Amino acid sequence: MVIECVCCDTRIDSKNYRPFHGIAMRLFVSARTNLYLRDSGSICNACRMSYLKWRNNTEFISVLNRLEEEEPNESMMGIDDKDDDGNNEYVTAAPSNDPIDTNVVTLPLNISVSSHHHCVVCRENVNSTCTVSDEDRDLLFMQSNIFIPKGSRCCPDHVVDGRLINDNLNKIRPRDIMQTSFSATDILTWLGKFRNHYNSIRYFDFDPPFSMSESDCYNLTGISKANFDHLVKLLADSNIKNSSNRSFRNAVGLFLTKPRLGISNKVLTTIFQFSNSQAVSRTLAAVRQAMLTHFVPHYLGFNHISRQEVIDNHSSPLATQLLTDKLNTVVLVIDGTYLYIQVRNVLTIL
Ligand SMILES: [Zn+2]
Ligand SMILES: [Zn+2]
Repeated sequence: MVIECVCCDTRIDSKNYRPFHGIAMRLFVSARTNLYLRDSGSICNACRMSYLKWRNNTEFISVLNRLEEEEPNESMMGIDDKDDDGNNEYVTAAPSNDPIDTNVVTLPLNISVSSHHHCVVCRENVNSTCTVSDEDRDLLFMQSNIFIPKGSRCCPDHVVDGRLINDNLNKIRPRDIMQTSFSATDILTWLGKFRNHYNSIRYFDFDPPFSMSESDCYNLTGISKANFDHLVKLLADSNIKNSSNRSFRNAVGLFLTKPRLGISNKVLTTIFQFSNSQAVSRTLAAVRQAMLTHFVPHYLGFNHISRQEVIDNHSSPLATQLLTDKLNTVVLVIDGTYLYIQVRNVLTIL
C-alpha cells in the first residue's frame, strides 16, 4: 500500500506515517500546500516535526490553543502528539488484560503432500533433511491458498540459499483438503502476515523469491536472473546494508537499471518506490563504490587477466597468423578513439 504525505507528497514507509488531524495541523499544511485538504490522511515524520516546531513557536500560539479548545477531542490528541517526539511507531499496542478468546475455528484447507519421505514439490522419495522454510510456507499459503505442513521436506536441488526456487514453489499442488483448527491468536498472526505481505509488495522486486520473470529481469537490468544472482554474491562482502526501505538486492537492481534504461532518478523513485530522488542517488553511489572494489578488478582492466591466459583463451588463430611470427605472442587490438594521444586511429600493439 502506498501512503503519501499530505504535506510534501513524499511516499511514506508504512511504519513511519502519522495521522493527519487537528485544526492547527490542517492550518499548517493548508498554508504550505495552498491546496484543498482531504478530510483524513497521513503526514510524514519530517513534516510532522516541522509542524510541531511551528506549533510551539508561532506568535499565534494562543489563537491555536483557543481553536483547539473548541475541538475537545483534537486537543487531547494534540497533547499526546507533542509528548512522543522521535518515536516512529504509529500504533503502540497497549497491554491488554482482556483474556484472548480461546475458541477455535476449524477451516478446510488445501494441504500439500506432507511426509518426511516425499518431496513436497516433485513427490519423489527424498532422503535429505532439507525442509521447506517458514517464509516459503507462508508465501504459498498467501499466494495460492495451499498450506504446507511444518517440517515438510523437499529435494535439496529445489532450494537456493534456504529458499525454494520460485518455479518450484509454483509447482506445488494440493493433495488433500484437511480440516485445520485455528485459534484467535493464529488468525491474528495470519492477518498480520497478510498485512506485512501487502505492504511489502513492489512493482519490481529483486528479493527472494525473485519471482520476476526472466525477460523482465533482462529488460530492466540487461542481465539474466542467474547472472544477477552471481553479481549479488560477488558484492555480498561490500558494506551495502539492507535498510527498511530498500534491500541490498533491490539496490543492485536499481543500479543496473539506471544505465540500461537511461532514466532520471526521479522516474526511478517511482519505479522502485523510493521516498525521494536523493535516496536513489545515495543508493546508486553506494552500489557504484561496491562495484569498483568487488567487481571491476576481477573483470576489467589489464590486471584482471594474465598474458598467458590471453594467449591461451582469447587469441584467434587468424590474428595470430596475420600479425605475429611467433606463436607465444599476445595480439592486442585497442580502439584508440578515446586515448589521450594526438592521433585518432586504431593502434595495433604486438
Ligand atoms: Zn511530508
Ligand atoms: Zn523434489
